[in-house]
Amino acid sequence: MDSITPLRVRFAPSPTGSLHVGGARTALFNVLLARRLGGKAVLRLEDTDETRSVSGSEEGLLADLAWLGLTFDEGPANGGPYGPYRQSERLPVYADIARRLIETGHAYRCYCTPAELDAERRRQLAEGIKAPRYSGRCRTLDEAARAAFTREGRAAVVRFAVEPGETVVQDLVHGEVRFDHHHLGDFVMLKSSGWPTYNLAAAVDDATMDITLVMRADEHLPNTPAQLMILAALGLRPPRYAHVPLILNAEHQKLSKRHNTVGVGEFRTQGILPQALVNYLAFLGWTPEGERQLYTFEELVQVFELERIHRAPAVFDERRLRWMNRQYLQRLPRAEFEGLLVEAFRGAGLLKELVDEDSQSAALAWASIFVDAFGEGLETIADAVPIARELGNRVPVLDAAQSGVESSAEVRAYLRDVRDYVTGMAAKRANEAGLLRDLPLSVDLPALAARHGLEKRDAYRCVRVALTGQEHGAPLQLLFALLGAAKIEERLDAALAIRH
Ligand code: GLU
Ligand code: ZN
Repeated sequence: MDSITPLRVRFAPSPTGSLHVGGARTALFNVLLARRLGGKAVLRLEDTDETRSVSGSEEGLLADLAWLGLTFDEGPANGGPYGPYRQSERLPVYADIARRLIETGHAYRCYCTPAELDAERRRQLAEGIKAPRYSGRCRTLDEAARAAFTREGRAAVVRFAVEPGETVVQDLVHGEVRFDHHHLGDFVMLKSSGWPTYNLAAAVDDATMDITLVMRADEHLPNTPAQLMILAALGLRPPRYAHVPLILNAEHQKLSKRHNTVGVGEFRTQGILPQALVNYLAFLGWTPEGERQLYTFEELVQVFELERIHRAPAVFDERRLRWMNRQYLQRLPRAEFEGLLVEAFRGAGLLKELVDEDSQSAALAWASIFVDAFGEGLETIADAVPIARELGNRVPVLDAAQSGVESSAEVRAYLRDVRDYVTGMAAKRANEAGLLRDLPLSVDLPALAARHGLEKRDAYRCVRVALTGQEHGAPLQLLFALLGAAKIEERLDAALAIRH
């Protein structure tokens, strides 16, 4: 492994949209390895495809990486000795390299128009060539022919002159992979606009930024020979390569934006915690020794190893991510858990309805009871929102079928008593922001029920059904505290108003 140390790795996203899990996984592996081996992690923006760049995506990428807790030693935001780190700011570097390669005979200007290239392609297909490629016909143009094309007003691209032979990639994940040059046409390095193609810019930047290991998605393995050829022609030392496996969805197809949740930002809005997502992503195409599944970022740094990256594709299983998220929620410091809930409730516009008050401390107190009542069942913070909404909005209507007991005169009298009891307690506890905490319900409700000849279990059941429309749920004690006196009174009134 000597050749990759002192380690310099890079994550090189194109700002063509938001950060998706594949990119995040690549970023994570790079950062983990850099931290593990005391190397440097570089962030490089590959923004040379003017047609695909989406404005605002650089900010989005940076924000998503920061949310995940992934930090880079060098990059567009914090600079560094190898800058600039945006390829759009390095155009003179690529133009200069292209010129040098033309001078040394490794590259040439091609004046073919799109229509000519298309005709050539179709001719090859008609001849039975399955994978048509550029014929290389501009390789041999002389000075006069080039001048004539220029006079005609034709724009030129710069192509790399691929020599016959093969390139052997010694991939650190896949081992030796051979590419016969026969399948590669003379590829474009510089577009007629003067902007570089991905292969030129990536290869040149990897070498000139002293990157020692390129760890990236499998889909780039076929680009590696072109990049190695460019570096060889320039006499530059190539990095080592490690191509990490594809991520598939549950149906074992490539993850797609259309059919799957793939955006880091989407997971954030679904209430996934960054530490859970990081833990989950680490296991997509890599596993540590042993059975253990939960690792903090710092723990991952201790155990991450290039040698344990899988060759086979990884499968993205949202259920496992949610399971993992629940483990992290259960382990969150209580105050943090409550804070996140309050944020989610506020975001959903529920706080006014739930707490009757705009104070953060009242909201936190309410969230604390919520955690007691429902915390264990939550897989994500977002799961709490519909539960809270139901507590806030629902005015349950007694179901006649299940209300055999409820319809009796005794039950109605009992519920009326419970209502008075709550009103009385609320008056005594008016200073507690409407929260009815720690009422001695287990003594008081059966006592009230007994007055009307009802059983103990009816004492709880009737009240629960009147308040929630359901026979089972969170302990009444907590439910009383969450609903508060006003809602309890309102719901008991509603139950009592039903005629049977
Ligand atoms: N900009 C390329 C991408 O987003 C990066 C490929 C590479 O890491 O070389 O796929
Ligand atoms: Zn040409």
